[in-house]
Amino acid sequence: NADLAALDPEIAAKIDDELGRQRDGLEMIASENHTAAAVMQAQGSVLTNKYAEGYPGKRYYGGCEHVDVIEQLAIDRVKALFGAGFANVQPHSGAQANASVMHALIKPGDTIMGLNLAHGGHLTHGMRINFSGKLYNVVPYQVREDTHTIDMAEVERLAQEHKPQLIVAGWSAYARQLDFAEFRRIADSVGAYLMVDMAHFAGLVAAGLHPSPVPHAHVVTSTTHKTLAGPRGGIILSNDPDVAKKINSAVFPGQQGGPLEHVIAGKAVAFKIAASEEFKERQERVLAGARILAERLVQPDVTAKGISVVSGGTDVHLVLVDLRNCELDGQQAEDRLAAIDITVNRNAVPFDPRPPMVTSGLRIGTPALATRGFGEDAFREVADIIAEALIADAGADLSGLRHRVEALAAAHPLYPGVAPLS
Ligand code: PLP
Repeated sequence: NADLAALDPEIAAKIDDELGRQRDGLEMIASENHTAAAVMQAQGSVLTNKYAEGYPGKRYYGGCEHVDVIEQLAIDRVKALFGAGFANVQPHSGAQANASVMHALIKPGDTIMGLNLAHGGHLTHGMRINFSGKLYNVVPYQVREDTHTIDMAEVERLAQEHKPQLIVAGWSAYARQLDFAEFRRIADSVGAYLMVDMAHFAGLVAAGLHPSPVPHAHVVTSTTHKTLAGPRGGIILSNDPDVAKKINSAVFPGQQGGPLEHVIAGKAVAFKIAASEEFKERQERVLAGARILAERLVQPDVTAKGISVVSGGTDVHLVLVDLRNCELDGQQAEDRLAAIDITVNRNAVPFDPRPPMVTSGLRIGTPALATRGFGEDAFREVADIIAEALIADAGADLSGLRHRVEALAAAHPLYPGVAPLS
C-alpha cells in the first residue's frame, strides 16, 4: 500500500514535472483547461474500481447503489445546465459520443455532412481514416474563401444534392458562431438528423454567453474537458424523445462496456461548478481574452509581417492565426511560443498551402488562463508577448519575453493546494 512516490518514483516524478510545467508556463491550447482540484479528487477516488454496466437503477452488476446516485446527479445536473430533456453522461470521450450518435441514428453506407477537417472540422465529422470516414459516405462542406465563415448556401446546395441522413454542425478550429436554426432548417428540408457537436463551446453555452444548440438540434454532443472545464469525457443531450430512446443502447452496449464512474463523478462536480455565477464570470474573461488577442494580432506591427487572423476576429474562446503570407510557418510559430513557455498548437487554416504536419496557422485559446484568474490586463500582456514573439527576427533573443511569461504565471498561481507527490 505504498504511496505513488514510494511505489513508482518514475511515474510520480513525471506527474510532478507536469504539474510544474502547467504551473510555470501558460497553457493556451484551445481544447484544454485546468479542471478543478475537486474534479481531480473525484476522479482519483475508489469509484475507479467499480463496474456498473447499464444505467442507474438498471445495472448488470451488484453494489451499484452509490454509483447510481452519482450518475443520476450527473444526468440531472447536465440536463438542468443545458435545458435538455435527456442526457447520457457515459461516453468515455467526445469521439465516443459522436460514434454513439451515429451508431444510434444512421447505418453504415449512409451519407453524412460535416465541416471539412482542413477548414476546422473534427476527425469524427468524416475524416477519411476515422471511423466516420470509413463507415459513412462523407460530403464535407467548407468555409468561404473571402469571409472564412461557413458557407450556408453551399451547405444547403450539398444537402439538396446528396440527401444526407445526418448533418453535423460543430468544429475544432473555427472562431465564429454557427447558425443552428439555419442548419436545422436545411436538415429538415432533406429529412436529415442534425447533430451539433458543441465540444469546444459548451462552457460558453452553459454560461449563457453563446447561443445554445439544444433547442435546434435533434441531438447535441460535447466533451466535458474543454471550455466546460470538467474531466476528460463526453456527453450526449437531446430534447427529441424518439432520438433519446435510441441513444442509451447505442452507448451501452453499442459502443462501450463499463462506464467510468470516477469520471462521471468528476463530470457531476464540473456541472455543479458550471451552474455557478463564478463560472459565468470566468467565461466572460475567456471571451474578453480571446477578443483582446485577436485585436492585438491585427495591429500594423503584426500585419506588416504577413500575419493575420482567420475571419478577422473571434466570437468564441480561440483565435486562429493565419500565417499563409508569413515567412514563419505553423511549426516554427508553435516552437517559438514553446520557447517562451506558451503552449499552443499549430493548425491548418482554410486553403492552407503548407502540409498538415507544418501548417500555416496557430490555434490559440484562452480558457485555461481564464481559469487561472487572468483578467483583461493580464490578457493584454499575453497578447503583447505573443505578438512580439511572432514578429521577432529569426534567432532573436526571446529571454525578455520568457521572463514576462514567468511573471504572469507567478502572479496567477495554479492549484495552490496541490502538493507535489515527491
Ligand atoms: N468533437 C470536437 C469538436 C472536438 O474538438 C474534439 C476534440 O478535440 C472531439 C469531438 C473529440 O473529443 P475527444 O478527444 O474527447 O475524443
